[in-house]
Amino acid sequence: MQSDLYILQGLSCIYSLQISCSPFVRDKHEWGYFAPNVRKGGLALTWSRAPCNMNHGEWTIEEALKRRNVITRGHFLLSSGRHSEEYMQCARLLQYPTEAEKVGQALAAFFQDREIDVVVGPALGGVIIAYEVARALGVPSLFAEREEGHMRLRRGFTIQPNERVLVIEDVVTTGGSVREVLELLKSYGGEIVGIGAIIDRSGGKVSFDYPFHALLSHSITSYEPEHCPLCQANIPVVKPGSRS
Ligand SMILES: [Zn+2]
Repeated sequence: MQSDLYILQGLSCIYSLQISCSPFVRDKHEWGYFAPNVRKGGLALTWSRAPCNMNHGEWTIEEALKRRNVITRGHFLLSSGRHSEEYMQCARLLQYPTEAEKVGQALAAFFQDREIDVVVGPALGGVIIAYEVARALGVPSLFAEREEGHMRLRRGFTIQPNERVLVIEDVVTTGGSVREVLELLKSYGGEIVGIGAIIDRSGGKVSFDYPFHALLSHSITSYEPEHCPLCQANIPVVKPGSRS
């Protein structure tokens, strides 16, 4: 049996070398190749990603947002009650693990020398990106979630006194959720090191008592409903699915 396995592995290597000479595209934005893999005594084809420089050239947040149609146009009711012509849905970007990983690495780069012990994201928008930043920093990731209207750590999550915490959110507009998380972390005695976000939708207006870094600053024009040109044009208003 063991010798069979060696033969299979040998064949697999030869086949892999042949097949990897001609890259395939699985997703139109991701280069890579299918390579055979010995698994449970059989051969399986597994996807191998090409090196990053083949996938995206130099990865930028602007390109990634365009590529994944994060910004949509229409007539939207924002969580503030105002109306706008644009809406940003970061979930469209983060549904791709290859993009989420890059976003996490880009944000982590700003905080990598700050001796972070743990990353915390507000649910739901902050969960995936906080996790990716934590992965890039090599530390754990927790999320805070609303329970009876208050941000809490549940599921056995906790912060030890003096732990150095980085707060990560997907989109910051007024910073309301982030401030609630900051208060929560202070109640545990956590030491807040900074705040990171993929997008600062306030266009640079939002500020915190701690260092804040967003990968992109983008302000969206919004209107009071009574002054909204889209309402005046009788275009139906849509309430997008989440607060962020
Ligand atoms: Zn309107």
